[in-house]
Amino acid sequence: MNNFGYFMPTKIFYGKNVIKEKGSLFTQFGKKAFIVTGRSSSKKNGSLEDIINALKEQDIDYSIFDEVEENPSMEMVEKAANIGKSEKADFIIGIGGGSPLDSAKGIGVLINNPEAKKEDLYSDKKLESIPVIAVPTTAGTGSEVTPYAIFTDNREKTKKNFSHRVFPKIAFLDTKYLMDTPDKVTINTAVDALSHLIEGYLSTKANILSDTLAEKGLSMFKECKGALAEKNFSYEVREKLLLLSTLGGMVIAQSGTSLPHGMGYPLTYFHHIPHGKANGLLLKAYLEFCEDKGKVNTILSLLDMKDLDELGVYLREILGEEIFISEEEINAYTDSTINNKSKLKNHPYEVNREDILNIYKKSLMYK
Ligand code: NAP
Ligand code: FE
Repeated sequence: MNNFGYFMPTKIFYGKNVIKEKGSLFTQFGKKAFIVTGRSSSKKNGSLEDIINALKEQDIDYSIFDEVEENPSMEMVEKAANIGKSEKADFIIGIGGGSPLDSAKGIGVLINNPEAKKEDLYSDKKLESIPVIAVPTTAGTGSEVTPYAIFTDNREKTKKNFSHRVFPKIAFLDTKYLMDTPDKVTINTAVDALSHLIEGYLSTKANILSDTLAEKGLSMFKECKGALAEKNFSYEVREKLLLLSTLGGMVIAQSGTSLPHGMGYPLTYFHHIPHGKANGLLLKAYLEFCEDKGKVNTILSLLDMKDLDELGVYLREILGEEIFISEEEINAYTDSTINNKSKLKNHPYEVNREDILNIYKKSLMYK
């Protein structure tokens, strides 16, 4: 067995009304909180109200930035950070899907380093953040337990992982915030979590600890398979989806993601395909390409699927309509992926341009 390390410093608290129960934990981070969230969902699902009540109870002042967009841009992160600086925020609470949670990490880095500009989100120097607390309200990204954040870089016309490492100090998981998530968001985010479990399991950096988590996550996904196909989401199903998504985050915090994530970014940037769906469209062809057939077969058996065709048909059915892309675009996205060295490095075997092109061609309808 190769040498490995395991580092997951985020404290996780799970359960009904967990924020109300554990509200006193906020006091260790300071007297002024900066809440970072999307435009509407956290107001409707009760998560924002629970946070505000917990802060008031602890006599902690707060201000709110509620303009986080999907696939957050560096410009938006910088704008929010400037507000956070003028508000003299001691810590950040990100509430929502991966977009607000990732934004909270970028904003935290820029607040903690007042001279830093949006370009420094990708600087070589590792910068620290003020403390970040995460309240996920989608079951997909696992951002509440990863050090990563992905921002849209409009100069390079793609999404890129920022170069810093910000593990949230605490993740509060409460299934009740997910109960009214629209079907499409539920499905796309669940497939993002599935991609994390699969890509992490097959990564160069996978180890026995991350594999143990991935295997549990994959067998929990199997239990949600029918509900995702029927769009029938009980509390118990959403609870499993939330926990398997956090397991997926714990896996990629060790192993990183690889080709489907790297290849999906241009599909999201240029065709507005939601992140999880973009990964999901590429998964079957990626698994066909993977040389570790033993691990691929374990994935299929944990998902209770007889072969990759069954997985492909299932994913097409739940993800919905086909995407049409020109051959010229596929070629451009192949070039962009082949330059994403960090994703290629996580695939355990050599990958060349032809391999990427084939995965795209097998996965997408093209004209
Ligand atoms: P998202 O972009 O955060 O949110 C998608 C939509 O879902 C938004 O319209 C949001 O509305 C809505 N929403 C969120 N929670 C809801 C709820 N409980 N009920 C109803 N609607 C809800 O989606 P996401 O898929 O969770 O995050 C995707 C982002 O995370 C991408 O940028 C991706 O690259 C990144 N990501 C990060 C990691 C990581 O490790 N850091 C891993 C994978 C992906 P509002 O805007 O009103 O809130
Ligand atoms: Fe993802």
